[in-house]
Amino acid sequence: MTVLAIGLQGPEVEAWQSTLSMLGYDLQPDGDFGMKTQKATIQFQIDRGLKPDGIVGDATRKAAETPGKIAKKEGLFDPGLRFIQAKHFTRPSRPRTVSLIIQHVMENRQTSNTAEAVGAWFSSSDSRDASSHCGCDRDSVVQYVMPNDIAWGAPGANWCGYHVENAGYSAQTASDWATPDNGMMLQLNAEHVAKACEYFGIPKVRLTLDEVAMCVRDALIVQGKKGGQPSSHPGGICGHFDVTRVWQDWRRFDLPNPKLSGWWPDHTDPGSSFPWDHYMELLRAVR
Ligand SMILES: [Zn+2]
Repeated sequence: MTVLAIGLQGPEVEAWQSTLSMLGYDLQPDGDFGMKTQKATIQFQIDRGLKPDGIVGDATRKAAETPGKIAKKEGLFDPGLRFIQAKHFTRPSRPRTVSLIIQHVMENRQTSNTAEAVGAWFSSSDSRDASSHCGCDRDSVVQYVMPNDIAWGAPGANWCGYHVENAGYSAQTASDWATPDNGMMLQLNAEHVAKACEYFGIPKVRLTLDEVAMCVRDALIVQGKKGGQPSSHPGGICGHFDVTRVWQDWRRFDLPNPKLSGWWPDHTDPGSSFPWDHYMELLRAVR
């Protein structure tokens, strides 16, 4: 098979354009491999976790022939990111309302490869019942689950949650968080989360426990798992530990006992020294 790239013309180019078009990429097949075809090819490669070089070789052709992997174009609000599809996620039967952007840590050392390595783990069968929408390290953010799909990041807050992993450990101290590497990661995290806020219509505010509980309750009501009227709180940013505290105090927050559904919250990430004030400043500074 001919390797296709920008500048080429002919029936093979037209066939490739038809393939992309059928997969939902915005392209009119004309047999001419121009900028638009290159752009669509790069987007396709990003969506399938391939090297985004805009050149159609064997791996790219093969990925296009593989069904099952759903075209990942719709709802990708930060399309420049590398995508490594996590094994575990749920495609909601109807559109969900995201109100919580939830910060986690990976319990993995900060390197330039942490986000990629955790993505590879989430995509493997070792990942048991876990996933997140994305992960950050000092030089990149990697997408693991499509924003409109449900990642398995925090039981009790998955339907309404957008889950963001950070390289590092919950036990980090304030000075551990203040290293240049972590500073670069928090900046990349903030830039991605700012896009998430815009996409989901979520204000750039850190939520109180009462507000986290409100969003969790609303999600249950909207799904028909709890009676009452939703508050329609627009949501905001919180940590996994906030979700834990809300569910551990389920009586006070008018939530169903999680034990009756067979689980109990215990995650404490992103840890008590996560630099919330600094992070929220970075987030608000992104425009
Ligand atoms: Zn977590």
